Amino acid sequence: MVYVIDEIKTSGTSMPYVPTPLDLPTPIVDKPTKSTTEQQQQSNKLNEQDEEDFIKNNYVARTLLNESQLPPITWSNWYREVNWPQAILLCLEPFVALYGLFTTSFMWQTTVFTLIWYFLTGFGITAGYHRLFAHRAYEATKTLRYILLTFGAGAVQGSAQWWARGHRAHHRYTDTDLDPYSAHKGMFYSHIGWLIFKPRRKPGVADVTDLNRDQSIQWQHRNYLSLAFFMAFVFPTLFCGLLWGDYRGGYFFAGVLRLVFVHHSTFCVNSLAHYLGDAPFDDRHTPRDHYITALVTLGEGYHNFHHEFPSDYRNALKWFQYDPTKMLIKFFKRIGLASNLKEFPQNEIQKGRYTMARKDLDQFGQSITWPKTNTDLPLISFEEYQQLSKKNDGRALVLIAGFIHDVSNFIDSHPGGRAIIQSQIGKDATVAFYGGVHDHNTAAHNMLAMMRVAVCKYGGEVEHLKRRLGHIQTPTPIFA
Ligand SMILES: [Zn+2]
Ligand SMILES: [Zn+2]
Repeated sequence: MVYVIDEIKTSGTSMPYVPTPLDLPTPIVDKPTKSTTEQQQQSNKLNEQDEEDFIKNNYVARTLLNESQLPPITWSNWYREVNWPQAILLCLEPFVALYGLFTTSFMWQTTVFTLIWYFLTGFGITAGYHRLFAHRAYEATKTLRYILLTFGAGAVQGSAQWWARGHRAHHRYTDTDLDPYSAHKGMFYSHIGWLIFKPRRKPGVADVTDLNRDQSIQWQHRNYLSLAFFMAFVFPTLFCGLLWGDYRGGYFFAGVLRLVFVHHSTFCVNSLAHYLGDAPFDDRHTPRDHYITALVTLGEGYHNFHHEFPSDYRNALKWFQYDPTKMLIKFFKRIGLASNLKEFPQNEIQKGRYTMARKDLDQFGQSITWPKTNTDLPLISFEEYQQLSKKNDGRALVLIAGFIHDVSNFIDSHPGGRAIIQSQIGKDATVAFYGGVHDHNTAAHNMLAMMRVAVCKYGGEVEHLKRRLGHIQTPTPIFA
């Protein structure tokens, strides 16, 4: 086979030569009349009753059917559908930042502070809004809660109460119309479009009773606007101004430019993290793992893991993966500000990995040509096989392990020589093949299986046993 295909330069897994089965009737075996795909298609077709039941028992389908939604955004109505205050803030800030970049001189102190302020307000979102308040991935002391809420306000992304409520809906209804930033609505929509336009419909319900009861959350919610304005613009301006006289740099760099980066860093968790990368734990939904997303989001880039195990305080599991938010939470624990850091059992995490690895393997297996099984081949007796092998029709037939193989195309390339195969034609060569002459390797077993042309009745027996027992042994069919 493999040895005689020089002229057939086929690549991949297509087989150069597979002998056709013997031209004899194939036994009737109960086979499904329809292919599995056809059967699947049929079962997928829900009749009306099924559809009604589905809607009745599915919250998302029921809500989408019963609740009204705003009309689709078109060229004629878009200006009415824009959330103007948010749109102006989000669209103007990059231009203000650019203006500042070209008109303000750099001071190294301001540059360093801008970077620090980026991380502090960013961590307010990742360690605070996201992992602590939206997911309760750990517990924090009162002091830490207020600190995170204060810095989080500086990221100007709404109050933690509003943010966490939307985020819980995002996890609960991922990729559906009840997900406020569903990735199925496109990269632009999930990144920033959902903030620029009025929400098309209310996000799905999410339990926020814990947030309603939380004094620190309620304090931030009540004072959000003044807190956000102070932390985003007033504090950085005053800090840089009073300490080294750079009011202008403090405002444009640590204030506005830093805000542009913090905004788009968080937005990337909803957009990039649902597009870029792979799904090592579950591929039913859009969240993906990628180090680039992790780099731009302070470690929120292992989003496939995060959606599978949302209340785990970690995003990255391996030491070399970038997750500074995880390190910070660990640090909080070390200094007594955080406790009860939640981790999903490693055993359950491994199950996700295993399922996906198997799925990949199954797909790989589908690209390989496998040998014919006994249901695809004619069934003949040992005597018939002997007669056929004497026929001078160009087929060299050898019986091994119950299958009759046409080795005519391989016989000259047999690494053990032509003579050995020649001597086994018309005989049961099972013992010879399995170690009687040579214990063949797995590749040989695989190649041999591709040469199957028929099944031998009672072929599980071996020649020398038959002789010794005088052919009186109760025959054992090779298939039920
Ligand atoms: Zn997500
Ligand atoms: Zn989350």
